[in-house]
Amino acid sequence: MSETMREIPILYLVVPCYNEEEVVEKTAAVMREKLERLERENKIRTGSRIMFVNDGSKDDTLRLLHGIARDSRFSVVSLAGNYGHQSAILAGMMTAKKYADVVVTIDADLQQDIEALDLFLEKYMAGCEVVYGVRNDRHSDGVFKKATATAYYNLMHLLGSRVITNHADYRLLSKKALDALSEYQETNLFLRGLIPTMGFSSDVVYFDVKAREAGHSKYTLSKMLTLAMDGITSMSVRPLRLIGGLGFLVFLFSMVMCVISLVDWAMGNNVPGYTTTLLVSLLIGGITLLSLGIIGEYIGKIYMETKHRPRYIIDTVVWREAEEEK
Ligand code: UDP
Ligand code: MG
Repeated sequence: MSETMREIPILYLVVPCYNEEEVVEKTAAVMREKLERLERENKIRTGSRIMFVNDGSKDDTLRLLHGIARDSRFSVVSLAGNYGHQSAILAGMMTAKKYADVVVTIDADLQQDIEALDLFLEKYMAGCEVVYGVRNDRHSDGVFKKATATAYYNLMHLLGSRVITNHADYRLLSKKALDALSEYQETNLFLRGLIPTMGFSSDVVYFDVKAREAGHSKYTLSKMLTLAMDGITSMSVRPLRLIGGLGFLVFLFSMVMCVISLVDWAMGNNVPGYTTTLLVSLLIGGITLLSLGIIGEYIGKIYMETKHRPRYIIDTVVWREAEEEK
């Protein structure tokens, strides 16, 4: 089994940041400490780094990151604008993949327990190419977030997507998995759905979720809804099939109604059916509009894909060789 005889890897932590001025310095210190500990324990190799991705922050984040990157343990990829969490992670992973054996993506707010890194690395050493971080429970979330998240995962599974319940982009990818991921060119990026479809041996690691270290959530309701919608429409065409099924049912129903009304007419008792007429036309009108909306959503996706636009544009990369410090 050559797979289990892996070399100790060079690890890159990829950390997306959007308006995180309250927390980046603390995060940098905690992550640096952890990286050094892992290195001392011989779990990762020298040359491992923390790579911050500035996702078009409008506050002081970028200036603080420049300061942090004076230390060669850090580097900064700064995007030309705000491309969103998924694209920011992708930009980081694709930049890191040239130098790293494994990449772990983790949020900037220290909500995801960084101590779980040991477990991620153990799974990698045991031969996994992909390791998913799964949160233990949702007690730090409000009732609304908990309920919507559960409903969402159920819906996704119903629609045939292979998303892993309660896994949110805290994840390890090996170089092999990163190379495979770079072959996917889609603009509508939903990594949580995409990565499980690649295959590869994978495993999960459970971790505790903490409260945000500082600042507030950068996921606005509209960003969350967009991600949820992307998750469904970029991973499954089942909604389109459901429309087809619904159309067929409505067709059957209208055939039955035709026969009934013809029989009524032939028997001479064609009562004034105002309510029936109204209900039927409202029902069919509603279903038609809803179906058009869903089809429109897919056409919009196709439109964006045909443009082949870049998914992110890198403005600058701050990089400092370790030797320069001496
Ligand atoms: N983030 C990003 N671009 C965005 C929104 C968020 O890079 O447009 C980053 C953010 O800085 C954080 C991570 O994505 O590191 C997760 O965001 P957040 O913690 O605000 O989301 P929540 O944990 O509340 O779901
Ligand atoms: Mg968070």
